[in-house]
Amino acid sequence: MEHIRCLIIGSGPAGYTAAIYAGRANLSPVLYEGIQPGGQLTITTEVENFPGYPEGVAGPDLMEDLRKQAERFGTDIRSAIAVKADLDERPYKITFDDGNTVEADTVIIATGATAKYLGLEDEKKYAGMGVSACATCDGFFYRKKTVAVVGGGDTACEEASYLAGLASKVYLLVRKPFLRASKIMQERVLDNPKIEVLFEHNAEGLYGENGVEGVHVVKRKGEADEQHYDLAIDGFFLAIGHKPNSEIFKPWVKTDETGYIITEGASPCTGIPGVFAAGDVADPHYRQAITAAASGCKAAIEAERYLLGNKL
Ligand code: NDP
Repeated sequence: MEHIRCLIIGSGPAGYTAAIYAGRANLSPVLYEGIQPGGQLTITTEVENFPGYPEGVAGPDLMEDLRKQAERFGTDIRSAIAVKADLDERPYKITFDDGNTVEADTVIIATGATAKYLGLEDEKKYAGMGVSACATCDGFFYRKKTVAVVGGGDTACEEASYLAGLASKVYLLVRKPFLRASKIMQERVLDNPKIEVLFEHNAEGLYGENGVEGVHVVKRKGEADEQHYDLAIDGFFLAIGHKPNSEIFKPWVKTDETGYIITEGASPCTGIPGVFAAGDVADPHYRQAITAAASGCKAAIEAERYLLGNKL
């Protein structure tokens, strides 16, 4: 079985930053890209808050730069998804969807988080036929059409603003009477004449012959003046948060009720010696590219100290 000193699982800002630090520390890191090569930033548009880019940078370009930087210091980057873990004892064993199992002295879990859906049957029924969780990926298909975005956070506001640049009309369905997004994102949405924010609205189902033609909504659900009606739309976008990709590690590492890995204090240590967690998989609070990168850096430094301390 192949033996790896420093195994990094995931290729978002956390994974690549861990790889840059591990590479420069001569740990011969091997990085598996996982479900979404480059992570969530590859499906975003402009990143305006990553330090060092005064004019902003396109998400995919930022990730390509990080990848090149990781490769420059000798990271072996592979494309497979981790499907099984055995963290009972060192060396730890990880199995990938290409059938390969490797053993590793240190493991950095940087598997990120995946978009959530409402759980409606119709989301499955119309998957790829009008339902999407990524405006940047699919917005192009809705030029001059009408779409709805579900959610009230930064992602929902960002997606609604992006779609307003393509579609003729965007409904933002917000379940609460207010937006949770940051002030600047709220203003962008509320000032955009193409976006209509429908507060206290929930989606209950979709309809359409050969694709989405509309959404059944309920206004002020559970209240005396509850109201049901239909909105004609061509596209239905989910932007209601994410689920951490921690499933295969759960028998060994501590997680919170949502599945975020709980690390020791502000460190990336999981409690299993030599196993660290970095980025969104362990961060229910900040979930920013820059905080993910920082935790990837910490994880690589911890991995280096662990290897040194154990003469590995
Ligand atoms: P959030 O968890 O912040 O927001 C999720 C939104 O979806 C909330 O409005 C929530 O409603 C709503 N929601 C959740 N479940 C349901 C449901 N079942 N039905 C209807 N609505 C639902 O997630 P985001 O993805 O927006 O943001 C995650 C993190 O990433 C945040 O920290 C955010 O600041 C950051 N981010 C930053 C960006 C930037 O700075 N450019 C861009 C995108 C994200 P409720 O409020 O009622 O809970």
